[in-house]
Amino acid sequence: MLRVAREASKYLPVDGEWLVSPEKLEPPMKAFNWSRMQFRADEVNYSIYNGFRGLASEGVKIVAVVWGDGYVEGMNFVFGLATPELGVATVYTRRLESEGKLEERLVKEVLHELGHLLGLGHCNNKKCVMSFSLTLAEVDEKGPGFCSECSIRLARALGRG
Ligand SMILES: [Zn+2]
Ligand SMILES: [Zn+2]
Repeated sequence: MLRVAREASKYLPVDGEWLVSPEKLEPPMKAFNWSRMQFRADEVNYSIYNGFRGLASEGVKIVAVVWGDGYVEGMNFVFGLATPELGVATVYTRRLESEGKLEERLVKEVLHELGHLLGLGHCNNKKCVMSFSLTLAEVDEKGPGFCSECSIRLARALGRG
């Protein structure tokens, strides 16, 4: 995860400190749906928020990578989910790991969810990391970078524009 964070930090157009947990944490099994064999992403985010209230209340944004599959009610799966009001997002590896592209896809999805946590919505530019991806082809089509408009929005949202 250190490599993913290091790579992702290159593409965030605003300054910030990246902290990587030195230990692998156990995913909250109470958010695991055994009949679907998937994590319910909104519950995972809430559980992480509860576990890291201290950080969240200081305005630290948390993006956790979960080794497994995630979903939300009404969808078969999600690559990731951000809950901006909690400052917590998760990215799920299960659908991203084919073709030896897990790491580059994780970099994109971590940046995408972080963008949501920092106030961005989806972008119509298919090359922009904030474009919405429903398929792996769409994840692969976009780059890890924020388009110029999203970069400006990001700077503004953080009061630096
Ligand atoms: Zn999104
Ligand atoms: Zn954009």
